[in-house]
Amino acid sequence: MNDRVTELAAPSHLSGWTHIYSGKVRDLYAPADGSDAHLLVVASNRVSAFDFALEPPIPGKGALLTALSNWWFARIDVPNHLAGDGSGAPAVPAEVADRAVVSRRLEMYPIECVVRGALTGSGFAEYRRTGAVCGIELPAGLADGDLLDAPVYTPAYKAPLGEHDENITFERSAELVGDEVANALRDTSLRIFTEARELAAERGVVLADTKFEFGRDRVTGELVLADEVLTSDSSRYWDASVYFDASRSGADRLASFDKQIVRDWLAANWDKQGTPPVLPDEIVERTRARYQELLDRLTS
Ligand code: ATP
Ligand code: MG
Repeated sequence: MNDRVTELAAPSHLSGWTHIYSGKVRDLYAPADGSDAHLLVVASNRVSAFDFALEPPIPGKGALLTALSNWWFARIDVPNHLAGDGSGAPAVPAEVADRAVVSRRLEMYPIECVVRGALTGSGFAEYRRTGAVCGIELPAGLADGDLLDAPVYTPAYKAPLGEHDENITFERSAELVGDEVANALRDTSLRIFTEARELAAERGVVLADTKFEFGRDRVTGELVLADEVLTSDSSRYWDASVYFDASRSGADRLASFDKQIVRDWLAANWDKQGTPPVLPDEIVERTRARYQELLDRLTS
């Protein structure tokens, strides 16, 4: 086994913590003493596209995304899952200091709270077929990347690992979590998105869409913003200077800060059958630089 495969397959051994779950990108650990109040969420350097974990990892990605998520958490006026200093929570182990957080362990709602401020990607494909996105009718004549007059909330059911998430209606989300929580998920998601979009715009970045996850505090019952927030894995960001360049139109305006470089390369070099090809060094480095550029633009 080469190092790449080892990194992909085996989460680190961290003293004081027991590995309990690995998603496509993050590894979760519980305190080894059996307490279930906290969780260590470690962002790996893994990169996925079209629902496949790819090789090799992107050096520094876990740290870049953790820094970005923490920066947003500090600016969003909603209770979040980070276990702050003085909360009695265990510390982040030194080995993963720059790419992990200790959080409250929540009961997660099985809903991906997707907010779209622009029409693109799978949403644009659906609009071209049906004139609507997740059942929400939109005006005729929109082009790929056009901003929507008002952001729309299009929840998805969070499928168990290995299955694809499924777009659902707001009504279906209310059947899953109850009216009160469904309303709170929608209203809170739209509010955070609207505020974050303004802040990003001031820094020359268009926040096109994103996905939030929330959980319930098992002691107080409060709704808590969890997972990663507004990272380039969970969001689509475009460069405003390109987007608003009047000489460009349609998809030409969409210089994105996410793993679009990886997606484009795969789409051109793989038929989506069998195992995806190993990413060339040049694609890995360009992707890393793009993540870094977004962090610098937003936070400096
Ligand atoms: P995807 O790659 O589609 O995001 P995933 O969400 O299963 O898949 P990761 O994002 O890698 O994989 O893993 C993070 C997991 O941790 C998610 O299942 C998320 O819901 C969960 N999670 C995040 N924050 C908390 C929390 N505070 N308490 C409990 N679970 C959490
Ligand atoms: Mg996730």
